Amino acid sequence: MRASTYPLVDAAEAAALVLDRTPVLPAEDVMLADCPGRVLAEDLIAPAQLPPFPASAVDGYAIRSEDGGGRLRVVGESAAGRPLAGELPPGAAARILTGGVLPQGADTVVMVEDVEQADGWVLVPVGFPAGRNFHRPGDDLRQGELVVGRGEPLGPAEVGLAAALGFPRLRVLRRPRVALMSTGDELVEVGRTSGPGQVVDSNRWALLAALREAGAIVTLLGVAPDQPEPLRELVVGALRDHDVLVTSGGVSVGTHDLVKPLLESLGEVHIGRVRLKPGKPFTFATLPSGRLAFGLPGFPVSSLVTFEVFVRPALRKMQGFRRPQRPRLPVRLGYEARAAGDRTEYQRVSLTMEGGGLVALSTGSQSSSRLMSLAGAHALVRVPPGNTGIATGTVVDAIILSLPA
Ligand code: AMP
Ligand code: MG
Repeated sequence: MRASTYPLVDAAEAAALVLDRTPVLPAEDVMLADCPGRVLAEDLIAPAQLPPFPASAVDGYAIRSEDGGGRLRVVGESAAGRPLAGELPPGAAARILTGGVLPQGADTVVMVEDVEQADGWVLVPVGFPAGRNFHRPGDDLRQGELVVGRGEPLGPAEVGLAAALGFPRLRVLRRPRVALMSTGDELVEVGRTSGPGQVVDSNRWALLAALREAGAIVTLLGVAPDQPEPLRELVVGALRDHDVLVTSGGVSVGTHDLVKPLLESLGEVHIGRVRLKPGKPFTFATLPSGRLAFGLPGFPVSSLVTFEVFVRPALRKMQGFRRPQRPRLPVRLGYEARAAGDRTEYQRVSLTMEGGGLVALSTGSQSSSRLMSLAGAHALVRVPPGNTGIATGTVVDAIILSLPA
C-alpha cells in the first residue's frame, strides 16, 4: 500500500521541516480589544513620554520646598484632570489629589498625614525636601523608547501601554484560519446515542480547544466519511478559504485511510510517517497555494501529541511568534521511563515542585487511545527507543505544557 512507503522521519527533523515550510502570515491593523495574544508586526516606539506631566502620587499639598516649616495659605486645588490655574505663589500651598498635576512653581508634595490643617492654612514640616511624592514626566517611559519589539506577544500590560500612548489599534500579524475535520465512518456526534462499533467524535472538541489555545480561528467542518469523493470535496473546499487544514483519522495504511493519497493528489506530501510514539502516521503536506495540510492520526492522544509537536509551533510561527515552541525546562524523573517499541516516545507526565525543582511523574498507561494520559499532564518527556530507558532521578529537558499551580 502506498502510504507505507513513506520513510520514517525523525520527530525533531519532521518538526523542523514543518516549520521551514510554514509561512508567516501578513500583518493587519487590529483594535486593542482584539490585541491580547497577538504579535506585533512592527516595533512599538513611545511617541511621547509617560507620564506626560508631573503627577502627584498621593493626596496632600503641593508646595515650594523652600517654604517648608512655614504656615502656608491654601490657594486652590489640583485634582486629577483639573489642574490649578496658573503658578503656585511663594508662601502658598495647593491641595493636590492623586494624579493631579504638580502646579508650576511647586517642586514637592507633602502627604496630607504630614501637615496640620486649619481653615485655609496648612503647617508643613521643616526642611521638607524637594522632589517628593510625585512622578516626573518620562519616569515610566521616555519619548522614543522601545515599548514592545516586533515579534513580541501582546499581553495586558503591553496593551495598556499602547492605550496610554494613544494607539487605538496596533499592527499585528494575522491569525491563521484553520479548517478542522474529523474522518471516519464510525464517528458520531457527541450527545447522540451511539450504535455498535460507533465512536463519539471527541477529537473535534479536543483539537478545537488546542487550536484556539494556539491562536487559530477555527471552522468546524464536522465528520468526513471514509469515501474518496465526499472527502475530496470537503478538503478542496476547506483549502480554498483557509490557511491550514487539520484532519484527524484516516492516515494509517488501511484501505479506508484516504487522507494521504488525497493530499498527494492536491499538493506535496512532505511527511507521511514519523519515528514518534504516539503519532507515527502523522502527515504533512503543502498545497501549490502555500497552504498547509496536517493529517493527524485518529487516536485521541496521537492527534493531540502530534498537534503539540508539529501543528502548534507552525501556527505560532504563522502569527509571528519568534519562539514558536513550548518552553523546555529541566525536570527530574520520578519514575523509570522506558519507551515501548522502536520510536522515540513522548511520555505524558505531571509535575510537582520538590526541593526547588520540578519532578516528573508518569500519568499512567501511555496507550495512544487513553486520553486520560494527557488529562492534567504538565509536560512531555522524550524517551529514546531501546531498552536503556531513562533511570529514576535523571534530569531531562521536558516540553512544558503548563506548570503546576
Ligand atoms: P484512524 O486513524 O482513522 O485509523 O483511527 C484510529 C482510532 O482512532 C480508531 O479507533 C478511531 O475510531 C479513533 N478515532 C478516529 N477519529 C476519531 C475522533 N474524531 N474522535 C475519537 N476517536 C477517533
Ligand atoms: Mg479512520
